[in-house]
Amino acid sequence: MDVDIAEIAFYFTIVAFVFWETISPRRVLLQPTWLRWFNHFLLFLLNSFIYRWLAVGAFVVSDWYLAVQPWGLLNWLPLDDISLFIIGFLALDFWAYIKHRLFHAVPMLWRLHRVHHSDLDIDVFTSFRAHPAAMLVDNGLSIAFYYLLGTSPELILTYIAVVSCYDLFTHANIKIPAPIESLLSRLLITPDKHRVHHSIDYKEGNSNYSTIFVCWDKLFNTYTPEPALGVDAEVVGVKGFNGATEVWLPAMLSQPFRAASSSPVSTAKPQTTDTP
Ligand SMILES: [Zn+2]
Ligand SMILES: [Zn+2]
Repeated sequence: MDVDIAEIAFYFTIVAFVFWETISPRRVLLQPTWLRWFNHFLLFLLNSFIYRWLAVGAFVVSDWYLAVQPWGLLNWLPLDDISLFIIGFLALDFWAYIKHRLFHAVPMLWRLHRVHHSDLDIDVFTSFRAHPAAMLVDNGLSIAFYYLLGTSPELILTYIAVVSCYDLFTHANIKIPAPIESLLSRLLITPDKHRVHHSIDYKEGNSNYSTIFVCWDKLFNTYTPEPALGVDAEVVGVKGFNGATEVWLPAMLSQPFRAASSSPVSTAKPQTTDTP
C-alpha cells in the first residue's frame, strides 16, 4: 500500500471518528476534550517520529530486509500470492495478540503499556496514548516477526495502515446501533469490546487482547463479552494511576518510572448517553 494513501486514509479516519464522537457519543467524557486532544496529540507527534524512523525508514523498505525476506517461513509455503497475503495478514494479527499479552504479563513491559490503560476516558485520542518506549519495544517485536515470516513490504505496510485506522475505531467513543455491534463483534473487536480491556477491574483488563479479529481471544479463552457492571457503568483506568493529572504529557512520559499513587481510587463513574 502506498504510504501517502495510507496517511491520507489515517487522517481522514481521525476526522470521521471525531465527527461521529461529536454527534453521537457513547459515553460522556470525564475530562475536558481540549485537554485530552492537546496532550495526546503531542504524544502522537513524538511517537510518529519514532515509528517512521524504526518501522518504515530503517527496515521495511531497506535493501537488507528485501534481501533476506525471501528466506522467511511464509515463502516456503506452496501457495499463490493471494493465499499468502491472507495467511500473512492473519499471522500479523495473531502476533499482535501475542505481543499484547506479553505487555500485560511481563512487569517491565506492563509499566510501559500501563500508560495506555491509565486514560480515564476512552476516545479516538486514546489510540495515540502509547509510551515511546512501549512503541520501540512493540516495533522491535514486530520487526523480529517480519524477519521470521518473510512478509512482503506490501503486506507489512497494508497491515500497519489497516491497524492504524482500526485502532482509531476500537477506541472511538461512538454509538453503534446494537444489531450492527452484535453482528460485527462475532468476527471483529468493536469499541464496546475493547473498552472491556480498559476496565479498572483486573480480570476484565486482562481479557479482550485481540487487535482486529476476535478469534484469538476466543481461541485462548481470554474473551469477555461485557463488563460485569455493564457497558454504561464500566469504570476504565488503572488503580493508583487514575488521578486527573495523568492526562498531561509529562505525567504520561514519567509514569513507567513512578510508583502508584496512594490517593484514593477515583469514584467518578462515567455517564453515558442512551444505549445503542
Ligand atoms: Zn492492554
Ligand atoms: Zn486500548
